[in-house]
Amino acid sequence: MKGRIVKISGPLIVAEGMQDVKMYDVVRVSGEKLIGEVIELRGDRASIQVYEETSMLGPGEEVVSTNAPLSVELGPGLIEGIYDGIQRPLNQLVKKSGERIGRGIEVSALNHRKKWDFVPVKKVGDKVTGGDIIGTVRENEVIEHRIMIPAGVEGKLTAVYDGEKTVDDIVAAVEDKDGNSHFITMLQKWPVRKGRPYAEKMSPSEPMVTGQRVIDTLFPIAKGGVAAVPGPFGSGKTVVQHQLAKWADADIIVYVGCGERGNEMTDVLNEFPHLTDPKTGQPLMKRTVLIANTSDMPVAAREASIYTGITIAEYFRDMGYNVAIMADSTSRWAEALREMSGRLEEMPGEEGYPAYLGSRLAEFYERAGIVKLLGSDDRVGSVTAIGAVSPPGGDMSEPVSQATLRIVKVFWGLSASLASKRHFPAIDWLASYSLYSDRLSQWYSDNIAADYNSYRAAAMRILQEEAQLDEIVRLVGMDALSPRDRLTMETAKSIREDYLHQNAFHEVDTYSSMAKQYKMLKLVIDCYRSSTDALERSASVDEILSIPARERIGRSKYVPESDISVFDDIASQMKTQLGELKSSDGF
Ligand code: ADP
Repeated sequence: MKGRIVKISGPLIVAEGMQDVKMYDVVRVSGEKLIGEVIELRGDRASIQVYEETSMLGPGEEVVSTNAPLSVELGPGLIEGIYDGIQRPLNQLVKKSGERIGRGIEVSALNHRKKWDFVPVKKVGDKVTGGDIIGTVRENEVIEHRIMIPAGVEGKLTAVYDGEKTVDDIVAAVEDKDGNSHFITMLQKWPVRKGRPYAEKMSPSEPMVTGQRVIDTLFPIAKGGVAAVPGPFGSGKTVVQHQLAKWADADIIVYVGCGERGNEMTDVLNEFPHLTDPKTGQPLMKRTVLIANTSDMPVAAREASIYTGITIAEYFRDMGYNVAIMADSTSRWAEALREMSGRLEEMPGEEGYPAYLGSRLAEFYERAGIVKLLGSDDRVGSVTAIGAVSPPGGDMSEPVSQATLRIVKVFWGLSASLASKRHFPAIDWLASYSLYSDRLSQWYSDNIAADYNSYRAAAMRILQEEAQLDEIVRLVGMDALSPRDRLTMETAKSIREDYLHQNAFHEVDTYSSMAKQYKMLKLVIDCYRSSTDALERSASVDEILSIPARERIGRSKYVPESDISVFDDIASQMKTQLGELKSSDGF
């Protein structure tokens, strides 16, 4: 069955004679076989978003349905992949058509000729069900790719074939209870707009430790959590993302880039492949999948890209991995949505965005989570989603930022003013929040220290007091402060400069384990508490501030993880020196 184009509006075409297609079916448009997706159906008329340049199309050209929804290929070879929004490998596209990507190009996402050494972990006679791992393939030195029984298949293994296999070769056969055989390959196809199934969603209870002190201590994200980070230009968004990709305790990174200007994405494509994974010393790409849209790619592909990304993330989750997906930026994605909506002549909502902006964003973020996986073993996997927003002019009251804030549970507010003072990471401690803090406090007290949460709370309180005292200082000057308030101000400064400030480019400071974070924070807060005691014994603020141990506290961030016992030494020195202030006063 063929339809015919009746209207073309940029990336949107309308075709008639399409009564047999379904919503979200993929179609091929014109003799050039451009890839499109049905996004609206009215009678026999289908509105189709086309993922390729449409300028040469004309009315009357044919439209053929593939009768399948937009899907991705999942299997060995995904890792290290660099794809466009509909999972076409960029290097293949460029190879076939040069820098300006041509149209109607047929390339498969995975290499179907490459052979992988399939190592079974189940044997003939074993009972298996959807989600069970039946074997593994070494994708590279870093990642083991686990081959799963597809959801919905259940029965007994009647054959298992080990050794060199392509993704299309049969690696196992399953006989179900009705005696039907299912042949298993290493390739799974999955429609991008549909979340992959799992047994049960769990409540996030464990942090995804990032080694970045301001995040882990003040605004932690849970494994399976959702966070947003706004990125005013120059505020250090790229560095934050790189730090997360390198250091977060996630096994796999999926990075979805929706750049505005062509070169923004080129930056990502140039930078990411050069990052080194500090945990393995290997290129970070060895556990990364990149999805990149540049502005010269059609907007429709950008709209699809975040679903392509999260489907790939879910697939690795299903293997039992902790996956982090970063979408940068969701604002660019939303603009693609707005453009398509405008062309569909839908009723525009706020600032021209469609009324369903919020629900579409939610559909993306809701696919994050920590879940009990399908299959007979009790396995868990997680997808943690971090979306960057880039509100025009940094104004967070605009619709995309507002819709995002209603969904996410963590907000890392990057501040241009902190960045201009060169306070990095420029995460504003007064504007940011994490709704996971309470839920994670049990984990911190069980795994880090029983009193960890009280130190965290003390730090937050002192920073808030500083903000209030700042107001007073602005009105009446520093002299108006009581000694105690001065001490609070100095402690806040120490929290900011000695603790929260973290240099991504310093070999030690770039990452702090939770154990080190706790010791550092304890040092700063204990110093405050002991200083308050000294003050009560009528030592002067100047005396307190001039104890030599304070300088060591200032440099404690450079103490390597292997020397962590140094902290106890600094702590006892600090206590002794503050204690001696009492005797010098003759008490
Ligand atoms: P954006 O992507 O928001 O435009 P970048 O991430 O490129 O900004 O950061 C701009 C500059 O700020 C970097 O080149 C770097 O010099 C500095 N910077 C940002 N974050 C840090 C950090 N954590 N440690 C040290 N320098 C940083």
